[in-house]
Amino acid sequence: MKTTSNDAKNILDRLHATVSELLTFTGMLRGSIITTHRRCGKDNCWCAQPGQKGHPSTRLAWADATGSKTRSIHEEELNEIAAAVEQYRSFKQLRKNLRVDEQSLENVLDEFENKMVDENRHKRGYR
Ligand SMILES: [Zn+2]
Repeated sequence: MKTTSNDAKNILDRLHATVSELLTFTGMLRGSIITTHRRCGKDNCWCAQPGQKGHPSTRLAWADATGSKTRSIHEEELNEIAAAVEQYRSFKQLRKNLRVDEQSLENVLDEFENKMVDENRHKRGYR
C-alpha cells in the first residue's frame, strides 16, 4: 500500500502546485486578436475606391452567452492585451493538466478501494 499512498500523495502535491499556479493568473482575457477592415464612409477617402477593403483595425474578438463581440485595441495596449490572451491560453492548458491529474487520483483511489475491500472480504472468509 506504500506505493498507492505515495502515488496519491504525489498526485495531490501536483494538484496543489497546479491550483496555486492557476490562482496567479489574474490578468486573463478570453478571445483572439484579429484584424478587421472597415470603410469610414467618406466619399473622398481612399477606402471608398473600388477594390479597397477599408481601414484596418486590430480588435479583440470573443464570444459570451449573449453572442460574438469585438473591441478595438489601441496600439499602445496591444502588447498587454496579447499577454492577457496568452495567459488565458496557458490557464486553459494548465486546467487540462489538472483534469489529467484528477483522473489519475481517481484511478489510484479506485484501485485502493477495490484492494482494501477484497482483502477484508478475504480475511473474513466472504466469497
Ligand atoms: Zn476611409
